[in-house]
Amino acid sequence: ADIMAMEIEEKPDINYNDIGGLENAIVEIKETVELPIKKPELFEEIGIDPPKGILLYGPPGTGKTLLAKAVANQTNATFIKLVASEFVNKFLGEGARYVRQVFELAKEKSPAIIFIDEIDAIGTKRTHGTQGADREVQRTLMQLLSELDGFESRGNVGIIAATNRPDILDDALIRPGRFDRTIEVPLPNKNGRINILKIHTEKMKIDENIDFESISELTEGFSGADLKAACTEAGMFAIRNERKKVISKDFMDAIDKIINQI
Ligand code: ATP
Repeated sequence: ADIMAMEIEEKPDINYNDIGGLENAIVEIKETVELPIKKPELFEEIGIDPPKGILLYGPPGTGKTLLAKAVANQTNATFIKLVASEFVNKFLGEGARYVRQVFELAKEKSPAIIFIDEIDAIGTKRTHGTQGADREVQRTLMQLLSELDGFESRGNVGIIAATNRPDILDDALIRPGRFDRTIEVPLPNKNGRINILKIHTEKMKIDENIDFESISELTEGFSGADLKAACTEAGMFAIRNERKKVISKDFMDAIDKIINQI
């Protein structure tokens, strides 16, 4: 009961083929997080320390959480997710203790992946304030840095942080030996969007004439989450029109609707 604001999944049910358009990010995360957990001896033999923490950055809804879950799946790891902005608010005065408990839990449950979403909530460059909430945030950050520093990177706990705002992160966080590896998780390009649309329509009844190329062209600037929402909306339009299959027009209407929301 002590540990809230945390989501734990034993072995998330997400695979790399559930993720569209992030080929580079997948290659990098495999090498920097998966490999050290699966084959620590490779790093020992060569005599280097694998990266301790990696930072995923990119716009909201592009698949950062999916990537972290896929790594946990591939390594049979427990996935422990914290949302930094939440635990700062919920644990006034307790943030630092909370961070310590999370790292203890990860060691206990190892192999484990600690995923810290919205790390900027505790790791922003600040005019080092010494008052109230600011001070609390700072203490939480100090505890996180100390956990990272005291951490044996050849162990089987991987630490992945995510942010939409890498530009505002405190330098202390991205120093060597901390989150010193960054991986971009960008908006999908045209091909990426096609892949993501195929993933999210896989279980849908859709008309054979549906042209993913042209849907992809109409959805420039959409994130993976937006594309998923468009597929769901298209399904809603089909239901509303009492059709048993989703047709091209449903997708067009759905895209219009999402564009008006973005
Ligand atoms: P945030 O920064 O807002 O936390 P995020 O980058 O972690 O977002 P996810 O939570 O991974 O994004 O994505 C939200 C949902 O959108 C996913 O559960 C998935 O359904 C869909 N999605 C996002 N990106 C992709 C992608 N690249 N391929 C397939 N589906 C995606």
